Amino acid sequence: MNIQIAHNAGFCSGVEKAYNIALETSKKNIPIYVLGYLVHNSFVISKLESQGLKTIKSLSEIPSGQKCALIISAHGVGPHIYEEAEKRHVEIVDTTCAWVKKAQRIARDLGRSGYQIIIVGDKDHTEVKGITGWAGENNAVIVQSLSDLDKIAFSDKVAVVAQTTQSLENFNAIVEELKKRTKDLVVHNTICGATFRRQASAVDLAKASDIMLILGDRRSANTKRLKELCEKTGTPTFQIQDASELDKKWLNGKNNIGITAGASTPQEIIAQVVNKINA
Ligand code: SF4
Repeated sequence: MNIQIAHNAGFCSGVEKAYNIALETSKKNIPIYVLGYLVHNSFVISKLESQGLKTIKSLSEIPSGQKCALIISAHGVGPHIYEEAEKRHVEIVDTTCAWVKKAQRIARDLGRSGYQIIIVGDKDHTEVKGITGWAGENNAVIVQSLSDLDKIAFSDKVAVVAQTTQSLENFNAIVEELKKRTKDLVVHNTICGATFRRQASAVDLAKASDIMLILGDRRSANTKRLKELCEKTGTPTFQIQDASELDKKWLNGKNNIGITAGASTPQEIIAQVVNKINA
């Protein structure tokens, strides 16, 4: 049996940085809160919580007047969170990924210039909500697929950006359709380089494999996209969160096993799965 791991599988530089900053911050002698999930991976979250970090859903969970630090995740947040944290005199530890910051800046500038901003991404994802906040709630429309375009009344000036972990295929298809439906369209492909490379390597490996295993949390948008892209190659594809979810039946009669992992999946999980297959 030949097991091959795709290039760029597992933690990306943005997640790695956020994780290391969070670990370093946990050494401070004050309560440390993380707004939302630092990354979408239960294994990583449990590890951080074991260091004393507390995940909260809203700033209202922080006792007023408490001297504490607030970690903002790699996915970023809208401007109102910074304002609220400042009002509460909470120390901000910002781990927003540089690629997400870039998308936020573009959305903010376009919003200020009077553009209606189409954000190609998952409606409920933290990163998309943050970008929407920077664009201005009234200027932004979130589009997941081509069919969402039918519900939009387009302005004269339209711009389009992407959630950093979108598939290029979906983004390009939406851009092509927008070109037909708008008068003045500004396009910013804000998909991050790490996502693009990870997806390309996953698809290449899926084409050369008898089965493809995608490792990552089911809440992780980029992992979900890896699964969709690998499935499209026709190779049987299964997503698992860790080695305990591996079903031996999937491997029967398979010689070439391909593995990739989402940006928030640590190397430990990849190693556990490889060990289990070998065993
Ligand atoms: S997937 Fe890309 S945008 Fe998201 S944290 Fe990693 S490098 Fe940053």
